[in-house]
Amino acid sequence: MPRLLFTAFFLTFLFTNAYSWDDTGHKITGYIAWQRMNPTAREKVIKLLRSAPEDSQLSTFFMAYGPRPDEAKRFDYFVFVPTWADVVRDRAFPVRYEKYHKSNWHYSDTFWRQVNGKIELITEKQPGGQGVAKLIEFDKVMRDAAAKDSEKAIAIAWFLHIGGDLHQPLHTSGRHTDREPNGDQGGNFFLLTPEGTKREDQVNLHWFWDSIVGRNVPFLPFDNESDYIRRIAESYMVRYPFDSLKGGLMTGNYPGWQKESFALANTDVFRSDLKRFETPTDAYRRNAYAVSEQRLAMAGYRMGETLNEIFGK
Ligand SMILES: [Zn+2]
Repeated sequence: MPRLLFTAFFLTFLFTNAYSWDDTGHKITGYIAWQRMNPTAREKVIKLLRSAPEDSQLSTFFMAYGPRPDEAKRFDYFVFVPTWADVVRDRAFPVRYEKYHKSNWHYSDTFWRQVNGKIELITEKQPGGQGVAKLIEFDKVMRDAAAKDSEKAIAIAWFLHIGGDLHQPLHTSGRHTDREPNGDQGGNFFLLTPEGTKREDQVNLHWFWDSIVGRNVPFLPFDNESDYIRRIAESYMVRYPFDSLKGGLMTGNYPGWQKESFALANTDVFRSDLKRFETPTDAYRRNAYAVSEQRLAMAGYRMGETLNEIFGK
């Protein structure tokens, strides 16, 4: 790959991936959700999103997809929408940032210790983060006949973002260790680079999981972004067809979504072969990517079916 593209590839990782499934992960869930949605749900959801408050700039992005056939434009726009909650982190737009950026809505951490490979819950502390609470709240807004369209627009955008985030196991886990007696912040304190590495060169476990798709499916020089997302999302839908996952959708059961992800923190994230200050082994990386593929497919199906249930009738 030419040097410039190669550099751009890594810069993208460094600056966009610090918080949640990165752009790629969220767009894959948007792509998959859209495939599930019926024409009625698609039309209502796009119409609502376009009624978003002006200061959110959520509806502005629709225009960015230019003069194209309407269906293609609506699709590209919808795939983008799950990333809006990260877009608003940009401090270059202080009004939007102040009003819409909410750092503790992106996760719902259960606090725990790992004792002999098993989960020991820490119940004396309130769970960290508002992810589940916000999903419940936005679900109500989306269903509320009395809610304004502009409120529903913001609710849909957050729903599509947090719904994805909670499928990343480290967005549901606050592991306590002797080193991290108050929790590891979803693996952010668990470093995979040697002890003493300069701060700017450090890589942590949270980042490892957030950015896992891009490291496993390189962005090729001839790819454009939508081809890239389509290629990945379609492959996940082949590997994990809807029919194979539909028995476990649990639509509306947001605590259930969180619990399912959290269980993986013990079985697949903090496995015994994962060592602090070391690059994960190939076996660890392969398993982590396989888990992530399933999580992203499930997130897309769940969100698409939820939107069908609410807007597709
Ligand atoms: Zn997030």
